[in-house]
Amino acid sequence: NPIIKINNVSKWYNDLQVLKDINLEIYNGEVLVILGPSGSGKSTLLRTINGLENIQSGEVFINNEIYNCRNCKALSRKKRAEVGMVFQQFNLYPHMTTLENVTLALRMVKKKTKEEALEIAIPILHKVGLDHKSHSYPSQLSGGEQQRVAIARSLAMQPKVMLFDEPTSALDLELINEVLDTIIGLSMDGMTMVIVTHELGFARRVASRVAFLDKGEIIEIDKPHDIIIRP
Ligand code: ADP
Ligand code: ADP
Repeated sequence: NPIIKINNVSKWYNDLQVLKDINLEIYNGEVLVILGPSGSGKSTLLRTINGLENIQSGEVFINNEIYNCRNCKALSRKKRAEVGMVFQQFNLYPHMTTLENVTLALRMVKKKTKEEALEIAIPILHKVGLDHKSHSYPSQLSGGEQQRVAIARSLAMQPKVMLFDEPTSALDLELINEVLDTIIGLSMDGMTMVIVTHELGFARRVASRVAFLDKGEIIEIDKPHDIIIRP
């Protein structure tokens, strides 16, 4: 069974159709990279997967559970957290340390004790290479480190899938690779991911499949070597 199933999804903003009958099945451990010009609907598609967008037709299933449909109710925070999402902007709480940012949702949404939350968070910070920054505040971190805190914060909720919306677009060139390497590490652990990015070299390395979106339509979907021409 696919872990993400997108069935005939269409979405309009007033008269503008931004998603046109999207059909996609993504299997456990797959990494789908979405490419396409600005305005083609990439962000909207990601936000549709975890129920952040209202859609006018079709359905989205995660692990056979419905996540989005025409008249679907808003998801609970707990259910939404099963789909981790990382944005271009890191959106960390500036007055909280790395560890506090990563454990907050565990305590508030999952009602973990402080000790339980730390037990989950510490190995995840190790995995993203930030053990030594546990007690730093966002302003004391580089952009790449802040994005890795944002990734750790999503991972702490033990998501079934992870969605990334241009995760390196706000970063200086020299910081991009540390974030891409972190994502490649997750892929090697078998995490199912959908990634919107303009980094073609990265797409070649990490993608199981690449989908090319244009004007709200998937116009091509295939293995990366069939879509991305070697530089
Ligand atoms: P991409 O991520 O590929 O750049 P988006 O999903 O952000 O594309 O946007 C797809 C289309 O939807 C664009 O034409 C954009 O202008 C339009 N759009 C996005 N958000 C809104 C909104 N809140 N209201 C109206 N139109 C929107
Ligand atoms: P990186 O080491 O990831 O390439 P930078 O070159 O931006 O990142 O920063 C080097 C180190 O200095 C990083 O470990 C970061 O935590 C720290 N650092 C960056 N900016 C600041 C700052 N404004 N205040 C304190 N520490 C900072």
